[in-house]
Amino acid sequence: MDYKITIAGCGNSFGVPRPGNEWGNCDPKNKKNRRTRCSLLIQSETTNIVVDTGQDFREQMNTFNIKNLDAVLYTHAHGDHVAGIDDVRVYAQDKVNSGRFPVYSSQSCLTELERRYNYLFETVNPSYPALFRQELVKVYEPFRVGDIDITPHLLNHGRITALGYRFGSTAYSVDMLDLANDDMSINHLKGIHTWIVDAGGFMSSTNPVHASFERIFALNEKIGAKRVILTVLSHLIDYNSVNSALPDGFELAYDGLVL
Ligand SMILES: [Zn+2]
Repeated sequence: MDYKITIAGCGNSFGVPRPGNEWGNCDPKNKKNRRTRCSLLIQSETTNIVVDTGQDFREQMNTFNIKNLDAVLYTHAHGDHVAGIDDVRVYAQDKVNSGRFPVYSSQSCLTELERRYNYLFETVNPSYPALFRQELVKVYEPFRVGDIDITPHLLNHGRITALGYRFGSTAYSVDMLDLANDDMSINHLKGIHTWIVDAGGFMSSTNPVHASFERIFALNEKIGAKRVILTVLSHLIDYNSVNSALPDGFELAYDGLVL
């Protein structure tokens, strides 16, 4: 089954423009250069899921008019992927009597979320009951939220690992320096049609946490996705000039891109 998938945000950790209206190489007149922090929306007839809730979560939910949310999937606990979690409470309030709102991720990410936001997972003040519950996922083991099927894969994000997620024929691999060093991740992604992937390293092969364009080109020789959408984009990547120079089958993400 295929789902409606929207790139809610494609910016790197500072977004574009960076604070102080710093546009770098980006043309401020091109709307595709205005980038909120990375987030992905997956929607079926009955179910809405978001991957990651960074600083721009509230703005993204308003932009895409999301009235109900069934779950959040987290890739990893870096601030630009989780810092909007307090605003998820709006969607969690009606689920407090039905088992609380589910937050899915790896053990390391869930542990870190609970350390930082313990009041969301455990009632420390009776006036503000805990609203969220933790759902541990296992790499390469499928699970389901509503009628959306999801399978996580493992990413090397420098000093930590992160989770990518596959939804039908589309996979989302953010943040990553590389796929995890095993054949499982390649095998898991083989056969996808669309790959939305962190290429925030851009031209640099020495970026310690984000993949370069060259690495993504090489990885897709093995994966064979027909459409590769490069995301986690910084103020150094101007949409028109960089996108027009990409090889066939590769394109830059922009906020609001609907698959
Ligand atoms: Zn990160």
